[in-house]
Amino acid sequence: MSTSASDSQPPSGTRGLAATAPGPALGLALEECQPRQLDDYDVVDAIVACQRQMAHLQAVQARMVQELSGRENYAFCVACEDTEVDNAFHTHDRADAVGQELSPALTWTPNEAKNHAGLAIELVEEHRSVLRALEQGRISWNKARIIVRGVSWLHDAWLQAEVEDRLLEDAPGMTERQLHRRLNRMLSEADPDTARKRRAEGRKKRRVCPPVPDDDVTGIASMTLVGPAEDLAALYTAVDAGARALRAAGDSRNLDQLRFDLLCQIGWNALATGVLAGPEQVRLANRHGRPATVNVTVPITTLLGLDDQPCQLAGYGPIPAEAARRIAEDAVLRRLLTDPVDGRLLEYGRTTYSPPRALKDFVLARDSRCVFPTCDTPSDVCDIDHGIPWEDGGTTGASNNHPLSRGCHVAKTLHGWSIEHLDWGGYRWRSPAGHTYTVPPEAVGPIRHLARPEHRRPRTDPDPDTGHQTDTGTDADTGTDPDSDPPPF
Ligand SMILES: [Zn+2]
Ligand SMILES: [Zn+2]
Repeated sequence: MSTSASDSQPPSGTRGLAATAPGPALGLALEECQPRQLDDYDVVDAIVACQRQMAHLQAVQARMVQELSGRENYAFCVACEDTEVDNAFHTHDRADAVGQELSPALTWTPNEAKNHAGLAIELVEEHRSVLRALEQGRISWNKARIIVRGVSWLHDAWLQAEVEDRLLEDAPGMTERQLHRRLNRMLSEADPDTARKRRAEGRKKRRVCPPVPDDDVTGIASMTLVGPAEDLAALYTAVDAGARALRAAGDSRNLDQLRFDLLCQIGWNALATGVLAGPEQVRLANRHGRPATVNVTVPITTLLGLDDQPCQLAGYGPIPAEAARRIAEDAVLRRLLTDPVDGRLLEYGRTTYSPPRALKDFVLARDSRCVFPTCDTPSDVCDIDHGIPWEDGGTTGASNNHPLSRGCHVAKTLHGWSIEHLDWGGYRWRSPAGHTYTVPPEAVGPIRHLARPEHRRPRTDPDPDTGHQTDTGTDADTGTDPDSDPPPF
C-alpha cells in the first residue's frame, strides 16, 4: 500500500484508489465508484480505500474532540478553583467532561466515550506522528491506541519517540495482535524494568467485572475476572478439584456445570447468611440500607404460575419467568409486591433530605439503572440524587429523586448537565453544549401494568428538540463503586 499526504489528486480510473491519499478527493471517488463495474482486484482496493478513509476521518474527529475539550464547559469545573469542593472526591479531567457530553450524542456508554476522548486528546497534543499515520490511513484507531498506551510506559521522551517511530513503520502491515507482541518485545528491550512495572500496574487493576448479558439467549450471562494469573489459577484449580471430587462421587452434572455451580454457590450462600466465607469472614455491606440481595421484580400472576410475563433481574435486565420463579423459591428474595404503585404517595417535600426507606425502594424499583441516557450502572450501586438540588429548594420525593452513577452524578453536579422529571414519567437531560435527550420511563414488572400501561421503555426515542436518538441499552458504567465512599454531594 503506498500512500502519502501530498498525493491527493483525484484517481484516474478506479486503479487510482489504492494510490490516493485519504481526504476529500478519495471520499468523492469512493462515493462515485460503482462496485458492480469493478473487477475483483479493484473491489479489494476500494474496500481497503474505505478503511483508510475511515481512519482519516477518525483523525479529523480526534481534532474536533480535542478542540471541544479545551473550551470552558469542559476544560474546567468549580472543583478546579473552589476550595470548598473537596478535591479528594473529584480531580477534574477534561476527557471525562467532554466524554460525558459525547456519550449520548454518539450512543456510547460514558466510559467508552471518556476513553475515546482521552485518546483523542493525547493523539493531538502528544503523539503527532501517530495522529499523522491515522490521518494518512496507514493505521487504524485501535492500532493508534495500542501504540500510544504502550509507549506511555516509557518515561524517557527520546525512547518514547524512538519506539513510536519503529512501531509506526511496522504497524500498517500487522494485525493488532502482532502489533501487541512487537510492542511488548520492544518495551522490554527499551527498558527491562517496564515488564515489572506493567505487571505491578496490572496487579493493581485486578477486578471482577459485573455480569454481561449474552446477546443471544435471554437470562444467560458471562463474567470476567482480570488479575494475576497465579490467583486465577488457584481459583480454577480449587473449583476444578471440587468438581472432580463430586463427579467421582457420582454427581451426574458434567465438569463444566459443576465448576460453575460450585463457584456460584459461594454467592448464594453468602447472600443467605450475610457472611462471605473464607479465611476472613466478611460481613456483607448493606446497599441503601438493605442487605445485599439479588432483586427480581415479578408480576404476582407470574409468581403464582398463572402466566409467564417477563421479569426483571435488577441491574441486568429481563429474565424468563421460570428463572424468576426459581430465584423466588430462595429465601434471599426480598422485593416482591412491596413496591408502591403510585409515586405520588412518596413525596416528603422539605421534611427530610435523605430519602426514607420506602422512597428509596420505590426509586430503585422504578429505575433499575442510572437514569443518564447511555449509562447502564445498576441503580442499587448508584447515588440517589435530588434533581433540583436540596440547596436550591428541591424536595425529597419520587418526583425529584432518581438514581445516578457516581460519574453521571459528577456530570450533573459539577459539569453543567441538568435533568428534569417529565410529567408522564421519564426524564429530559440537557448537556453543557445544549443538546437535550429524553429518557423514556422504564417498564418494570407490575409497575408497567398498574401505573403506566401506555409507556413501554423503547430502545430509542427521538428528542423533539434536537431529533437526537437516545439509546438506553449499552454496557455498564463500571466507574467507582459509590458504596466505597460517602457521596460528596
Ligand atoms: Zn470537574
Ligand atoms: Zn450513570
